[in-house]
Amino acid sequence: MKNLGYYNGLCGPLEEMRVPMNDRVCWFGDGVYEATLSANYIIFALDEHINRFFNSAAMLYMIPDFTKTQLAELLKRLVQQVDSPGQLVYWQLTRGTADRTHAFPEHTAPNLWVMLRPLVMPNIHEKVKLITVEDTRFLHCNIKTLNLLPNVMASEQAKQAGCAEAVFHRGGRVTEGSHSNVHIFKNGVLRTAPADNLILPGIARAHIINHCKKLGIPVEEIPFTVEELLSADEVMVSSSSTFCRSASHINGQAAGGKAPAPLRKLQDSLLAEFYEATSLCGTAGEE
Ligand code: PLP
Repeated sequence: MKNLGYYNGLCGPLEEMRVPMNDRVCWFGDGVYEATLSANYIIFALDEHINRFFNSAAMLYMIPDFTKTQLAELLKRLVQQVDSPGQLVYWQLTRGTADRTHAFPEHTAPNLWVMLRPLVMPNIHEKVKLITVEDTRFLHCNIKTLNLLPNVMASEQAKQAGCAEAVFHRGGRVTEGSHSNVHIFKNGVLRTAPADNLILPGIARAHIINHCKKLGIPVEEIPFTVEELLSADEVMVSSSSTFCRSASHINGQAAGGKAPAPLRKLQDSLLAEFYEATSLCGTAGEE
């Protein structure tokens, strides 16, 4: 199959899948999701994504009717059915199917969706351009919910400006990107916003912190300002599908580019982990 859609046990090409209009995701965006990459049909960091998925669901009082192990087995099985070894592996849980009422419906089972489509990681050494945008989202950004309208709006604004990503800020404080976390290098230290309710605790962010520690790069999980972003030695955006890319411009002005060596070391270390974990001959690929 070229791509794959899954909905509560039904499977088919994405373009042919149909879902009930009363799935609460249609009325309220009432659900949570996850996304990662596969290479060689091996799903990267699967356990970490499944753990965050269950945490997001729990924060919204959603109770999956499957275990973490069952979900992992399902995803590993589905990935094998798509022709491409490199895929975007996306899944979501919605609260259920019921007439539209705001409060939770009673006696409804959650709906599990999976979407798989070909995707290979872009060249992460290519620089990207960013814009800054006021963060007008709600205060539960740590939950990976399907309510992404401000993110969609910011992402479109970035696209129209010829940029890859929009960096949110609340007043002066940088929070994260519309679909990424944001980090800076300054004076040999990696600064990244703390994992509070204003950002998603990114899996790529966690890997970046671990790799910095392994490489002897000090890490500070403390907020930084737009001013500090603009004057940083390097500015990086991270996500599970793009790992860690650095910025060349922010709001049309040159940015970063002053600490290429630690940046390259960090990117190469992240890539090495990915290739090792998804290698067909390695043992690390089995999660
Ligand atoms: N922040 C937001 C708002 C995101 O949508 C994403 C990824 O989709 C991230 C951060 C990065 O998270 P991860 O590294 O887990 O992909």
